[in-house]
Amino acid sequence: MLNPILPWQEQNWLVLNRYLHQQRIPQALLISGAKGLGKYQLALQLSQTLLCTHRLKTGLACQTCSSCTLFKAGTHPDFMPISPEEDKKIIGIDAIRGLITKLTLKPQFDSYRVVLIQPADQLNNAAANSFLKCLEEPNERTCIVLLSEKPQQLPATIRSRCQKLLVPTPTAAVAREWLKSQGITEHLDVLLSLAQGAPLLAQQYVSETLIATRLQCFDDWLKVGAGQLNPISLAEQWYKLDVKLVLFWQISWITDMIKCRYSADSASLYHVDLKQPLQERAKQLNLQQMYRFYDSLVERMQKVDTQINKQLLLEELLIAWLNLNKRS
Ligand SMILES: [Zn+2]
Repeated sequence: MLNPILPWQEQNWLVLNRYLHQQRIPQALLISGAKGLGKYQLALQLSQTLLCTHRLKTGLACQTCSSCTLFKAGTHPDFMPISPEEDKKIIGIDAIRGLITKLTLKPQFDSYRVVLIQPADQLNNAAANSFLKCLEEPNERTCIVLLSEKPQQLPATIRSRCQKLLVPTPTAAVAREWLKSQGITEHLDVLLSLAQGAPLLAQQYVSETLIATRLQCFDDWLKVGAGQLNPISLAEQWYKLDVKLVLFWQISWITDMIKCRYSADSASLYHVDLKQPLQERAKQLNLQQMYRFYDSLVERMQKVDTQINKQLLLEELLIAWLNLNKRS
């Protein structure tokens, strides 16, 4: 059987395995780490192993017992995943109330029961308060696993009651090896740089043919700068994409241009493959204005998760980009 533990999570798994081996299952475990590092996969592995009735000597789930079969089919009654409802970002009080009711009952099988909350930082205030009660009163044979990219946004009262496990970002060499093992062999450096070192995010970028989309967006962005494409119509197109990603790209293009002005070496660029066009454009732009534009991009990025009108936001930025090119 293939090792189901991701290579950069081996230390994490050793810690978890020790808990299992010593029967010291934490009542609450907070798994944190950046997006795309496989926190969810690790939590699933732990959950299945806790529920498995015939755990292997290696410490992993057997994959064949009735618990494992139910788990893999997504129907194990003692596995309780909680996430925001579809179309919503927040985990509300109703989901937590439902959980509390279920936890008053005994687990249905003889093993553990696992609650998986993700993303845990999206519990709203009422839900978080109510959830705290779950943590304060020990539940029978229950392990509550919380996943979060932003653990600092969880109330300190919740954090302090959890064992903590941080999933690390792998070294570039480990990440590249893993991507190759997944059949991804091209643009590895660009991908990892875009994904800020997170292999699963890099993999997602490939599967979404994002490389091609990024090149198209970059091309259109340069055209807006050169006055060959209307910023309003490009904003309309970009609005249909992942706005956060488009913002991130613009920030990284400008960052790369500023680096080019300081003759940074290619290795430090986000978009190594775009070095030449970035360098050419950078030469023609006013450095101070580039910094100002960078600031306004970052400021918009901080607002992108709010109710702000995202199409308008893109329009404003593209017009500012056009003006920057005109003035320089
Ligand atoms: Zn099993």
